[in-house]
Amino acid sequence: MANISVYLNPHASQAMHTFQAEEIKKYFFRQELRFMSPSSEAELIELIQKDKNDGVECIFSIGGDGTAHTIAQNLVGSKIKLLVLPGGTANDFAAQMGTNSNLRKLAGIFHARTTREVDIIKVNDRYLITNGGVGIAYKVAQEVNKFRKDIKFFKNFLKSAGKNAYSLMFIKQIIMAKFEMLEVFMDSPDMPLFDKKIKSPLILVNNQPRLAGKFPVAPQTRNDDGKFNVTIFLHDNKLDFIKASSAFLMGKFPENDKKIIQFETDTLNMVSLNEKDLDFFGDGENFQPSKELNISLIPKSLVVYSSNEDIVLCPSYSLDTIPAIK
Ligand SMILES: [Mg+2]
Repeated sequence: MANISVYLNPHASQAMHTFQAEEIKKYFFRQELRFMSPSSEAELIELIQKDKNDGVECIFSIGGDGTAHTIAQNLVGSKIKLLVLPGGTANDFAAQMGTNSNLRKLAGIFHARTTREVDIIKVNDRYLITNGGVGIAYKVAQEVNKFRKDIKFFKNFLKSAGKNAYSLMFIKQIIMAKFEMLEVFMDSPDMPLFDKKIKSPLILVNNQPRLAGKFPVAPQTRNDDGKFNVTIFLHDNKLDFIKASSAFLMGKFPENDKKIIQFETDTLNMVSLNEKDLDFFGDGENFQPSKELNISLIPKSLVVYSSNEDIVLCPSYSLDTIPAIK
């Protein structure tokens, strides 16, 4: 029997009606489950600290990328295993780990004890588990988060639009808003550009291929190979940027676009070259604005249940039996 803490984010767009405690108990009836819905981030941090002291083996995150993000801040480097039960808008992390809202499948993954050790990206003092960046996408994340808090209508919109919510907000943003260029000094041992002073509407830092549920921003990127992906958009006018974006919106990577620069690295430093702070978004959340961003990678620092390939099978696991957890 495993001690499991289940954290349910009641504010996540799909969490409450996708997963019911009674249903979860049926699938995990042999385990010691503790259900919690902390009302603040401070309370969540306190509860996870208690989990660590109590020797809790697994944490279930019921919510979206934001919920997993907040929990991960307190789990990086620990041995506690994370299972993501997706109940958010984009659910990028769950998609990458191969978990969905099918409880039978989730229980199967849990009982097979298939976990992966995932690389985590550190951005100044905060951990990033999926994708993030600076530039126009920050405003999209900010707007979605603002509406999510303020307007009941928007919550219903998020529920029905699901993964399209970010696409729709992104389209609105590029059409309506002023086309703004970041001016940054970028430094990384792996950067292929000679001139390190960059003007760009969007710079992405990716730990996995897909952003906001569907955009294949870094098709070759993996979250367990010791590197993260950096994608720089060098389009200097709205029309070119819309052309590039429309490929992503249709689920394709614009292969022949010379203004998209990509590389993999484990260190990146970005400094604003004007008076503006760099507003970083990651895992759908808005980070603390800063003139400088120090980005590094902490290899294999979060243990996550996964159904995807390259899973580390428990040696005692046999396909004929579903082992009981000690
Ligand atoms: Mg990688």
